[in-house]
Amino acid sequence: MTDAGFARLRAYENALYHCATCNYCVSATWSERGIDGVCATLRGHTPAASHSGKGYLATARALLEGEALDLPTVAERAYACTTCGNCEAVCPIGMPPTTVLKALRAELADRKLAPGGAVAIRDAVLRQQNPWAAPAVQGTDWSLGLDPHPRPNLWLLPGCAAAHRHPAEARAAAQLLGVIGYDVAWSTEPTCCGAPLSALGFVDAAAGQHAALAAGTPSLARAVLGGECLAELRAAGQPATAVLELLHAALHDGRLEAAARGDSPPPAVVAVLDGCHVSKPHHGLADLDAPRLLREVLAKLGVQVSQAPAAPRYAVCCGAAGGMAQLHPASAARMAAAHLAGIDEYGAAALISASPLCAGHLSDHAGGQFPVYGICEFIAAHFAVAGPDL
Ligand code: SF4
Ligand code: SF4
Repeated sequence: MTDAGFARLRAYENALYHCATCNYCVSATWSERGIDGVCATLRGHTPAASHSGKGYLATARALLEGEALDLPTVAERAYACTTCGNCEAVCPIGMPPTTVLKALRAELADRKLAPGGAVAIRDAVLRQQNPWAAPAVQGTDWSLGLDPHPRPNLWLLPGCAAAHRHPAEARAAAQLLGVIGYDVAWSTEPTCCGAPLSALGFVDAAAGQHAALAAGTPSLARAVLGGECLAELRAAGQPATAVLELLHAALHDGRLEAAARGDSPPPAVVAVLDGCHVSKPHHGLADLDAPRLLREVLAKLGVQVSQAPAAPRYAVCCGAAGGMAQLHPASAARMAAAHLAGIDEYGAAALISASPLCAGHLSDHAGGQFPVYGICEFIAAHFAVAGPDL
């Protein structure tokens, strides 16, 4: 075997030779496990198997064996994946195609072969601290009129997606945490955690963001909204808790009481979208069990969920992640449309997500016909809340 110099792929060499080419990651369906197709890229971008989990494994193997593949073509394929992790979740023998895909992106980025769109996202993060190139100063607009606590015991990191794409979720989270009894503060100059850079293979730039965030955050407990941020921080060795976890605990131990508002009653039945980052094992948050927490929060609020509980582990990505929405917006729109189609089939009148990234993406494509909420935003819109001492 020839060492073609793809050192980041070498760590997965055994896996590259053990793919059984069973095609689960291409076309699996298994109704009682909630598997109904697997790959958002195959469904919404191209049906070519070269863009699937097994295709990325085959590409990595060919490169390690020294095959002279056309690297710009490899890059075009590698940057058309959402990095959702569903191919890893369904693989019956535990292959890591998403992890290999991310290593492949890092190899390409090292060789300056990342597509221009990916480089633009990197530069937007480095200059404006968000992947949408929105002015950095807008990153705190969600908190206008709210005062960070002068002596905080909890540091809120809403993440770029909430701050820039779904600000109502960031605002509601800060307010709810205050009602629960936390003394909450947040940065007036937010720093991106680096998750968009890691997803695109810009490993060194992501490490710089990790260091900048650690240096700029006081030594306090941290509460994070975005699943991608939580996974990124934990992978970087920085402790953080999900806002969803704090909300769930407070609703169940009595520190937060919520009563349906008469002037804005909640829908009786909702659909949920958990977000791949908090529901796929690949992203490292399996211990959080966010899908269960979200459903238990909704049950505590008296709101029924229309889908089967098995759905999130194998749900097909909505198209928000991995740079898909910026690099291939038409494909990401098709992925969102596939997700939104039929959501009201079982009587759901709203879609709730634990992920501000997914909620923002689906809001963009719901056409105003269907409300899409972050979980904190949903509570703020439809419930009167009180802490135990009020
Ligand atoms: S990666 Fe796993 S699911 Fe996909 S073809 Fe290979 S063995 Fe099958
Ligand atoms: S990570 Fe998701 S989008 Fe990428 S190949 Fe796997 S299933 Fe398809």
